[in-house]
Amino acid sequence: MPFARDVSFLKAKATRQSMVGVGIAVVAIVVATTMVAYFQTGGLTLAGVASAQRTNSALWFLDLLPFAFAVWGQHVGSVMAYEAGAMITDQTQELRTQALAMEFKAQHEMTHDALTDLPNRILLHDRVAQAIHRAKRDGGSLALLVLDVDRFKEINESLGHFNGDRLLRQLAVRLKGVIRESDTLARLGGDEFAFLIQKVASDADVHKVARTIQKAMDAPFSLEKLTLDVRASIGAAIFPEHGQDVDTLMQLADVAMYAAKQDNQGFVIYSSRLSMASPQRLTLMGELRQALDRDELRMYYQPKFDNHLSRVTEVEALVRWQHPRHGLMQPAEFIPLAERTGLIKQLSLWVLKTVLRQSSLWREHGLEIAVSVNLSTQDLLDPELPDIIAGLLAQHSVPAKQLVLEITETSIMADPDRSLEILNRIAGLGVRISIDDFGTGYSSLAYLRKLPVTEIKIDRSFVMEMLDNPGDEAIVQATIGLARSLGLAVVAEGVENDATMVRLQSLGCNILQGYHISRPMAANDFPRWHSDREAK
Ligand code: C2E
Ligand code: MG
Ligand code: MG
Repeated sequence: MPFARDVSFLKAKATRQSMVGVGIAVVAIVVATTMVAYFQTGGLTLAGVASAQRTNSALWFLDLLPFAFAVWGQHVGSVMAYEAGAMITDQTQELRTQALAMEFKAQHEMTHDALTDLPNRILLHDRVAQAIHRAKRDGGSLALLVLDVDRFKEINESLGHFNGDRLLRQLAVRLKGVIRESDTLARLGGDEFAFLIQKVASDADVHKVARTIQKAMDAPFSLEKLTLDVRASIGAAIFPEHGQDVDTLMQLADVAMYAAKQDNQGFVIYSSRLSMASPQRLTLMGELRQALDRDELRMYYQPKFDNHLSRVTEVEALVRWQHPRHGLMQPAEFIPLAERTGLIKQLSLWVLKTVLRQSSLWREHGLEIAVSVNLSTQDLLDPELPDIIAGLLAQHSVPAKQLVLEITETSIMADPDRSLEILNRIAGLGVRISIDDFGTGYSSLAYLRKLPVTEIKIDRSFVMEMLDNPGDEAIVQATIGLARSLGLAVVAEGVENDATMVRLQSLGCNILQGYHISRPMAANDFPRWHSDREAK
């Protein structure tokens, strides 16, 4: 037992100290007795010593000292040893409790959503897998429901990110109130929640749960003196009827939720009819995974024209998917899908590798062109990204300043602290950071100052109509002013005609991008385009 061992160790130490005291006392007795005998008899004899001991009462007192030291030392030693031992045990216990609490906290953070404290996607996946396992053994069924708030983006944009978060927290509390202890409510991310409902006997049971959820959302939500009616679309898939594993159930519940949203139905249970109605969505998810291995993705490059230099020194890399049946697909058709399925991490890695390889090829041919790459929310939460980028830059011998990463305000706001840390590490490499689609997110100017950005890109929705819409022009002008006062470069995207270009130049916009300069083109076409342009 560690405690008993600590005590006897400390006691032995104290005993050793008291033995020294006893030793000193014995020496004192011998010296004192010898001196007394010498002074009484004028010499040193055994009889003299004996007589000194017999007759001198001060020596009697001295004789008691070794015993006193021994007894006192033993006592104090024991008390001290027990006290110290108990202290050590207490502290060890406390340390153990602290370590356990920290382990628990880390575990909790890994499996729970920070905003609502609900289980996250990882924990839900685990719980559904276990529930399927049990249902297979006992012959039961279960339902997986996916809920997505209608028009949440609008709410977020008009009331701000802070209120969007508040709404999600309120919603989480209400939703939690409708499920049984044995069921699970999780937040999948953004405005998406999922329910695992165990032991469902029939479709009617699932309908009942959906009605209860909708009822819980009936009462308006209150945000800063506003009352807000919030609706959601819910889709459900049932085990074993629709799918036998977690991923299939998730995908099918998602398909059902989309159907509910499109038809404004509120709630839809999956049926194979839906897959036929949206076969593309469902099969695309599977095909996108293979597209990466089959090398079906293509990079296109769109020039960014520098007004001051009157030349193109930079391009934006835009991905396309050369689909075997659907032809060349635009990013809007598959990037959101990749973001939902988590495939975006692999896709972004592919894009970064391809773009840096291309950049180094162009450099070898004397074409010094900086490239910008678009990143998604999940990329900004990946702590490995800075190291990956550093590695790729070194591998392709591309100077860091020749790479620009375009991020959106929305993507930073998913987890501002974490994104900021990752962005700072990337900026530390010398890579430039640009804020894309500026003006469409819930921009926090205070936050913008904290970010290591070098460039703002005014969203094309403002630029495209700025000549006809004074409101848009005011926004463009204000953004140019803001960028200037913060010492940032400013890019206008979506420049479609000469009149817009001239107006932007007179407003002092440094960089222009849009169909008027060039549409995005394949890598092979760019050198010729560039040299033709330089020759003009
Ligand atoms: P973005 O980063 O804002 O890219 C600019 C988009 O505007 C591109 O659309 C471009 O083709 C289009 N555009 C450029 N000039 C004009 C113009 O004058 N008029 C009009 N109407 N449009 C113009 P694209 O290529 O379809 O890309 C759409 C979005 O998809 C991009 O918006 C970006 O957010 C995303 N995206 C593209 N490639 C990637 C990628 O490799 N990774 C990630 N994560 N996202 C990407
Ligand atoms: Mg972009
Ligand atoms: Mg943009």
